[in-house]
Amino acid sequence: MVKIGLVLMLVTGWLAERLRDAAAWPINLVRDLPVRLGRLLRLLVYGVTGLGRLLADLFQPKPAGWGRTWRGRVTFGLHHLGCYLFDLIGGPELVQFVMHLAIPTTPLTVTEMHAAATILGPTALRYGEIRVAEGGVLRFIFRANKGRAFALWHTVHLPEGSRSDLSLLVHEITHIYQYEQLGSIYIGEALHAQWTLGHEAYRYGGSQGLKQAQREGKPYHKYTREQQAQIAQDYYRLLNQNDQQAIAYEPYIQALRKGEF
Ligand SMILES: [Zn+2]
Repeated sequence: MVKIGLVLMLVTGWLAERLRDAAAWPINLVRDLPVRLGRLLRLLVYGVTGLGRLLADLFQPKPAGWGRTWRGRVTFGLHHLGCYLFDLIGGPELVQFVMHLAIPTTPLTVTEMHAAATILGPTALRYGEIRVAEGGVLRFIFRANKGRAFALWHTVHLPEGSRSDLSLLVHEITHIYQYEQLGSIYIGEALHAQWTLGHEAYRYGGSQGLKQAQREGKPYHKYTREQQAQIAQDYYRLLNQNDQQAIAYEPYIQALRKGEF
């Protein structure tokens, strides 16, 4: 009898989560419409003015590297356009609905939420919407990517056995914060940094590097998406070790809390 009750709880719990995932699509479609539409309209204005500049440049003598610069601007524009349209139709919610069918997910625990809120701020992002995915088909993905955790939209994907590492969770939730502030473009930007810079995409020089960067006036948003998340992760770790090096991180953590990505 106890066994049947347990199975029933597991089945209804799973169904309730799938219904929650399905409901997230229309809810976020409406709730995030102003911010998603705003991003798209700003990009269109940028695109129209950019087109004007391109046409004006066509009639000028071409400086060295002219073609490369324009190719970069067009790639940037198309990447943003694709992501903004994808967000506008609720693509993130639809893909997560399908992914969660194959990967077991659970909400953040109170301890995990508290850890992230300590660094990012209690109202920085929609913590209740975050799900942690572990196991299932993820095992094959982690075999291919050498066990590297990653965050897609509102889902943190963790290799088995790494959930107790709260600093890693802070890193991944910083990516979710980037998603809420910037939209899906953060995924392409983080992957681009990983592919072009390798491990350097994460390195920022520790506390000494941040002190130096502060002297030079380098703002938080100039760091790569991976460095931004790594700064949050390392700050959490140092804070918990009562390490004085954490002080050097504070101006950057303040910018992070304000969502200055
Ligand atoms: Zn990362």
